[in-house]
Amino acid sequence: LGERNFILAGNWKMNKTNTEASAFVNKLVGQIGNENKFEIILGVPYTALDRVADITRSSKIKVAAENMYFEDSGAFTGEISAKMLKDINTEYVILGHSERRNIFKETDEEINKKVKKALSNELKVILCVGELLEEREDGLTLNVVERQIKKGLKGVTKEDMSNVVIAYEPVWAIGTGKVATPKQAQDTHESIRRLISEIYDQDVANSTSILYGGSVKPENIFGLFSKPDIDGGLVGGASLKEDFIELANIMR
Ligand code: PEP
Repeated sequence: LGERNFILAGNWKMNKTNTEASAFVNKLVGQIGNENKFEIILGVPYTALDRVADITRSSKIKVAAENMYFEDSGAFTGEISAKMLKDINTEYVILGHSERRNIFKETDEEINKKVKKALSNELKVILCVGELLEEREDGLTLNVVERQIKKGLKGVTKEDMSNVVIAYEPVWAIGTGKVATPKQAQDTHESIRRLISEIYDQDVANSTSILYGGSVKPENIFGLFSKPDIDGGLVGGASLKEDFIELANIMR
């Protein structure tokens, strides 16, 4: 376990056809240098994974799926397995995104099964956690995040933690234009790191990247990314546009 990586991750959600994905990623590859000291990950719909992995093969950009199922194979119509993702050179999978939790009602237990299945198939995991607006207003932010992390990482070993990235995404900040203040984000990130040190140890805590997500844009990254426990961002809306290239170039 070494020093933690600084990461810029995108999440396209249910956007871009394969044709649109190719055009955008070709531009991205051409405009983002290979010398960057940070990691760039792009979360794309299942249908674009193979093509995007192909276009980015000789670049710095790695691809992530936005979800997967926790069974190996079988009668699960419409689902995608870890092995299927691995086979098309997917390196990461985003799990427990707030849209999966809130729209598709995924539970901490299901997310935990997915986390373990991904790791056992050598997929790296971006585990998303974050509180709803009413939970923040009720002072429950840390309780919620602690529950999501403890349950999400249940049974995940210390060794496996080198393949886990945490993304703190307050739900009230996702797609709303309402970004958390650098202090709000830093306070939660610091608590998350302390929690990881309690579950594992200080080495694991120090080497786990914790990303902030929620309305990240070129205009607001400086304050956020200057905080000691914020190791990069998970970016939704801005990852669909030139803004993502700008973010990557700012971080160089
Ligand atoms: C996200 O989807 O993870 C996200 C943070 O979205 P946005 O940047 O659009 O708020």
